[in-house]
Amino acid sequence: MGKPKAGFYSLTSCSGDILEITNLGEDILKLFDLVEVVHLNVAMPSTGKDPDIAFVEGAVTSMEDEEFLKALRKKVKQLVGIGTCACTGGVIARGPEDRRNWLTDVYPESGAGFDITFPRPLKDIVTVDFSIPGCPIEKKYLLHCLGYLLKGVLPEVPAYSVCMECKMKGNECLLRYRSSACLGPVTKAGCGARQPSLGRPCDGCFGFYDDANKESLIEIFREMGLSEDEIKKRFDLFLERGL
Ligand code: SF4
Ligand code: SF4
Repeated sequence: MGKPKAGFYSLTSCSGDILEITNLGEDILKLFDLVEVVHLNVAMPSTGKDPDIAFVEGAVTSMEDEEFLKALRKKVKQLVGIGTCACTGGVIARGPEDRRNWLTDVYPESGAGFDITFPRPLKDIVTVDFSIPGCPIEKKYLLHCLGYLLKGVLPEVPAYSVCMECKMKGNECLLRYRSSACLGPVTKAGCGARQPSLGRPCDGCFGFYDDANKESLIEIFREMGLSEDEIKKRFDLFLERGL
């Protein structure tokens, strides 16, 4: 039996997740050992073959995206969303009420005429077998999930918060000691506490973890002096669209 065929595709996105795959270094050679890569957007020309398993980044923002995704779903055994835009709509699905203004701010002459639909996650259009969040995806988490998926098994992923990973790394808590509005206490682990380890608060790109106590964190943010609008914007960046 030959290797499984894998394809990596982009819908509307910054291509950050596929770039993380091309930046896997030596691990990309291991990936090419395990699977036959039939399509890797931005990195190689398509072989034209159909994949067994498709990894798709980006949100659905046009009829072309939607038709492509539906056709891809029909061809593959497994379809996996990679990156937060694919999983929830991500940052590009922020602020539905403000979008038209943003478009005309950025493109004063042509923005009003843009023909776009509101960014939607893959799961709104097709059945998604598994979602790998992250803005962008975390390489170790991706490789961990790939190991399971290529055996046809759903990956086991951490069921705790980013704070747990942050503590395991021995970081000083930004929320407690620097009054920084960190979303680690309510965010699903998996990134290795990427931002707090660099002194920046977590923005919540992995989505809420199951036992997240959002109300307590909001109360802490209020005590820190954040306004209701600032709190809303913190949660609106990634978390409010669910995963
Ligand atoms: S810095 Fe953020 S992620 Fe780390 S322990 Fe504090 S609240 Fe949690
Ligand atoms: S620290 Fe938070 S925002 Fe940064 S990658 Fe991890 S989950 Fe995403």
